[in-house]
Amino acid sequence: MSTTARIHNFSAGPAVLALPVLEEAQQNLPSLPGVGMSVMEISHRSKTFEGLLDRAIEDIRALADIPANYKILMLQGGASLQFSMMPMNLLAAGGVADYIDTGSWSGKAIKEAKKVGTVNVAASTKTAKYASLPAQQDLTLTPRAAYAHFTTNNTIEGTEWTALPDVGDVPLVADTSSDMFSRPIDISRFGLVYSGAQKNLGPSGVTLVIIREDLLERSSDTLPSMLNYKVHAENNSLYNTPNTFGIYILGLTVRWIRSLGGLAAVAAINQRKAGKIYTEIDRTGFYRGTASTESRSLMNVTFRLASEELEKMFVAESTAAGLDGLKGHRSVGGMRASIYNAFPEAGVDALVEFMREFERARG
Ligand code: PMP
Repeated sequence: MSTTARIHNFSAGPAVLALPVLEEAQQNLPSLPGVGMSVMEISHRSKTFEGLLDRAIEDIRALADIPANYKILMLQGGASLQFSMMPMNLLAAGGVADYIDTGSWSGKAIKEAKKVGTVNVAASTKTAKYASLPAQQDLTLTPRAAYAHFTTNNTIEGTEWTALPDVGDVPLVADTSSDMFSRPIDISRFGLVYSGAQKNLGPSGVTLVIIREDLLERSSDTLPSMLNYKVHAENNSLYNTPNTFGIYILGLTVRWIRSLGGLAAVAAINQRKAGKIYTEIDRTGFYRGTASTESRSLMNVTFRLASEELEKMFVAESTAAGLDGLKGHRSVGGMRASIYNAFPEAGVDALVEFMREFERARG
């Protein structure tokens, strides 16, 4: 298929990648310039690959202004492995970890952490179907908790934190899988952030972990080496063979974000894109946003129609019109437009146009 035949891909992840990134990768696939081999065919210990890895890390550091006392790691196992690995490293015996439960992915993080140690659920919006986020005064925090964990963007429910929860001196840990680098992030406020790459950063199979150096001292030598942050940090993510191709694409993607003008510029684009869809949702009442207005995600726009029958029609007709992946997560139903950084604004305009037409025909 030629690149001009690309359709509008609203998938929640793996998700659309930036076309310039795909084109550069395509051009350099048989041979990296001057190397004569594909990035997939070279040793992860070669100068070429180490150069690619170091450049990706430098670009990430520059993009988000990450302080020198934070390590940037490229791991495997997805965000789901971090649900276990992070408490295995940071939650010592006898300690308590606070978790804020704001969606299915927070719930999974809690489930895994409970297998490692003691968890205090500091707040949960589950009974309200995760449509909103807890207010600061609703958090029951543990003094001197090992860390406090939350999910910055709830991919399935379509909610996103705008201000960080205040957890005092306790290290703040965040699953940033579905909104990493979609807006400025002040890493100095966090102890650790982790994100599966397959939404805003690149292909699946790479997990970006950014950890404050002092927390590495908590990683016990008794941990399996592959599950030990300190081991990965000491080996610059090259303890074993990493996902070399994934890291290459992630590096290109971060450079592409920088070329757009950085995180503030990307945030402005994301505001505008999401704003167009929310304005359409709110226009007449034919569509109903599922997230409370003040918690609406700029990455995953979730909405419903008056009946499941209408929703089925919406999905079938939008797919036929070249708008792919608008069906909501199977656990919640409805519709979800995932519009990460690389999702083009023209696709948002096409969706708004389709929504108007659909309402005209069926409203
Ligand atoms: N956390 C969030 C917020 C997610 O959206 C996802 C994936 N959709 C995960 C965790 C799980 O990620 P992975 O598949 O990389 O394990």
